[in-house]
Amino acid sequence: MVLTRLEQLKSKLAAQGLDGLVITQAKNRRYLSGFTGSEGFLLVLVDKSYLCTDFRYMEQAALQAPGWEIVKIDAAWWETIKQLWPKGRQRLGFEAQHLIYDNWNKLTKVLPTVDLVPTSGLVESLRVQKDEQELILLKQAIALADKGAAYLRSSLVPGYQERDIALELEFFLRRHGAEGAAFPFIVASGVRGSLPHGEASEKRLELGELVTVDFGAVYQGYHSDLTRTFSLGLPTSKQKSIYEIVLEAQLKAIAAAGPGVPCAYVDRAARDVIAKAGYDQYFGHATGHGVGLAIHEEPRLSPQASDILLPGMVVTVEPGIYLPGWGGVRTEDVVLITKQGAEVLSQAPKETFVL
Ligand code: ZN
Ligand code: ZN
Repeated sequence: MVLTRLEQLKSKLAAQGLDGLVITQAKNRRYLSGFTGSEGFLLVLVDKSYLCTDFRYMEQAALQAPGWEIVKIDAAWWETIKQLWPKGRQRLGFEAQHLIYDNWNKLTKVLPTVDLVPTSGLVESLRVQKDEQELILLKQAIALADKGAAYLRSSLVPGYQERDIALELEFFLRRHGAEGAAFPFIVASGVRGSLPHGEASEKRLELGELVTVDFGAVYQGYHSDLTRTFSLGLPTSKQKSIYEIVLEAQLKAIAAAGPGVPCAYVDRAARDVIAKAGYDQYFGHATGHGVGLAIHEEPRLSPQASDILLPGMVVTVEPGIYLPGWGGVRTEDVVLITKQGAEVLSQAPKETFVL
């Protein structure tokens, strides 16, 4: 039997001896209830589940979150919790990383006899392995990014400003069904390519430069994340060689990924290739990250990571080399960990990068 997300959460609450959990983090709230409004929280008790929001969202909440009891927040939200909290129950969990101190203070004042228990990653630990419904949405978001990559191949022209490329790419994605950009797009050309997070600037593209574009679409809340580096005209031998080192690092990391494999091991696979070529000090970020309702989520593929890859995890693999004063290269795909191995979900070609 497949347990629902809520049932899985409730068994985690029971394991921690909690009588309830208040969920204030917006993506966790959406993941559990389906509610996409900007205000509200969930109160999950052993035997009841409330979605509390304000007047503006009452109708939307009822449509999006069938099975949840919708409660209107009339005054302050902590007063609503006070009203809903069953007498005699003792332990109320809260999301320690998301409840701000001021609100925690308010809760302790309205529930003076209740133990407020800090919890960490209860919902996030469910989100880390994507279910079938999530994979459908993620694949839609990824397909949009692939279309975007094809569009880039025809629209990266010397003379254009980086910011124009970013703007037109976002427009293209939205016109094809994206609800938004996954993050402010990175368009880093020429020497700006050494900035791993070089947001699109007013710099104009020039013939002979490499251009790194890192972008993604949001589809029904799910994010894609894709990076391609292109050469405007024939690349120099150094540009070609750096590109090929990064590509080899990425392919080795993808080949290393699979169920039961430590995240740090995948990172090492990419890092070893770059180190062997003598560029280890120019690859200073993690090899990848989980992606889903958030653009960056668990697990991280980094040297320090202690997580093990599991089926259903969706991660990026994105090594890069950044040479200050010269430029940089990064290649990024989204990869699904399956029961047998790893499936690259991004389809945009990366073996050819010369425009
Ligand atoms: Zn990216
Ligand atoms: Zn990424």
